[in-house]
Amino acid sequence: MAIYEYRTEPLTDFTKPENREKYMAAIKQIEAELGQTYPLIIGGRSVFTKEHYISMNPADHTQVIGEISQAGIKEAEEAMEAALIAFESWKKVPAKQRADVLFKAAAILKRERFEFNALMTLEAGKPWIEADADTAEAIDFLEYYGRQMLQLDRIDDLVLSRRDIEKNEYKYIPLGVGAIITPWNFPMAILTGMTSAAIVSGNTVLLKPASTTQVIAYRFVNVLKRAGLPEGVVNFVPGRGSEIGDYIVKHPKTRFISFTGSKEVGQSIFENAAKVNKGQIWLKRVIAEMGGKDAILVDSDTDPEMSATAIVQSAFGFSGQKCSACSRAIIHQDVYDKVLELIIEKTKKLRVGDPKNELVNVGPVNDQRAYNSITEYIEIGRKEGKIVAGGTSSKDKGWFIDPTVIVDLDPMARVMQEEIFGPVLSVVKVDSFETGLDVVNNTEFGLTGAIISNNREHIERAKAEFHVGNLYINRKCTGAIVGYQPFGGFNMSGTDSKAGGPDYLVLHMQGKSICEAL
Ligand code: NAP
Repeated sequence: MAIYEYRTEPLTDFTKPENREKYMAAIKQIEAELGQTYPLIIGGRSVFTKEHYISMNPADHTQVIGEISQAGIKEAEEAMEAALIAFESWKKVPAKQRADVLFKAAAILKRERFEFNALMTLEAGKPWIEADADTAEAIDFLEYYGRQMLQLDRIDDLVLSRRDIEKNEYKYIPLGVGAIITPWNFPMAILTGMTSAAIVSGNTVLLKPASTTQVIAYRFVNVLKRAGLPEGVVNFVPGRGSEIGDYIVKHPKTRFISFTGSKEVGQSIFENAAKVNKGQIWLKRVIAEMGGKDAILVDSDTDPEMSATAIVQSAFGFSGQKCSACSRAIIHQDVYDKVLELIIEKTKKLRVGDPKNELVNVGPVNDQRAYNSITEYIEIGRKEGKIVAGGTSSKDKGWFIDPTVIVDLDPMARVMQEEIFGPVLSVVKVDSFETGLDVVNNTEFGLTGAIISNNREHIERAKAEFHVGNLYINRKCTGAIVGYQPFGGFNMSGTDSKAGGPDYLVLHMQGKSICEAL
């Protein structure tokens, strides 16, 4: 098999008893390891600091996942020094050798897949199939970006034209030190993808993971070390976003910022990065993947069962805490009553609880901040429309919110316009396909969306006019596959970068054109 043949990692089949046993055993193993103290990693050194973050299980207020040292300005500065030093050697390491680190890391993740899954169930509240898909996607990113780098490296040697008088070459070189700032909702896949893309391109990084999933992040950095990544290439600097994140974004030696998270933080990073600080000799590049207010548009001639299934899966998978989650269902009046009836029926059947139990479909939300924000939005929705499923929550044991469906809404209602990032679905009835298309496009976002229709003309119009980075037809709007469905949105959903696509690595590099007179 040629090295650049890429295949996605298959998902685990949980109908097989041996896989269920492995998952339960992994949960036991990870639970036995809980409560440890974790350091920062700067230039390969483990650095313990006085300030600690206590990572908790969102499904169980009594379970401490781990205590992680937090970086202050001093440590961030040391990490920058280490990254600058490492860059001088790492940028000269052949692309093949850099890619090999990713392939080795993928092999380790494949072997330790159940441990990572179990840790995500405990630290991020991920139900089994969601955690398993997250680890599989992390493996895919490593395999895909490794191969992408090998292909780009061949361009390095490409002689663009060779005449009698000159020889032209074009090659990609890395940018420098990057700030990698990651979210908690895909604590493996997105963290792995953003970090591996930056380093396989020859950059060194300061990695600041989301606060609530720092133990997972530490464990992944450890995998990179075991895969042979030299010291100082990835410097692990967990800490408060508003302090450490902000500091590394503004740092004059930061050459690029790769961020995934909310629109609000992404926008402020974009603004801060635009300012040229004292000692800075470049314009920073920003790769930002931000929020969404994703819609599924149901046409008049569709199968209600299929439509409702796609909507409920997209809205409530991982408690709606996916940037791609369907938070708006826009349904043609001809099928509205039947589709809504099925949505309510399917939503009420979902099992909410601690995702350690394999039968749970909807786990907790991320933390108290998320719980407060989502429950406030539910109250807003109660006033703006009518709640027909859910609307209830419980915070006694963990941060649980029942999947909630709100109807009778105006398309401009707040719950139709603002990202809620939880298990809340807003539903609107429309009188025509055209009106539906206007409604799907009327937010400031443009991340994912789906159209469910049997009308070929409508499908073609949606392909042209449904303004999202990832459009799906006759299926759910979540679950993009690395290498097949490059992922990233338009408008306030980001900088149009496409993770898991053929152009992504180039965003972390700059092209150098060389002409030699003969
Ligand atoms: P967030 O609150 O914006 O945080 C994202 C990251 O930014 C975290 O590491 C956070 O650190 C850090 N941060 C916070 N304030 C900062 C600042 N002032 N300067 C620099 N960094 C700062 O987002 P989140 O709650 O983790 O993730 C959910 C959001 O991400 C949703 O809006 C979702 O749609 C979006 N998302 C988008 C995509 C995509 O591909 N488009 C994928 C996944 C998620 P702390 O954790 O320490 O605050």
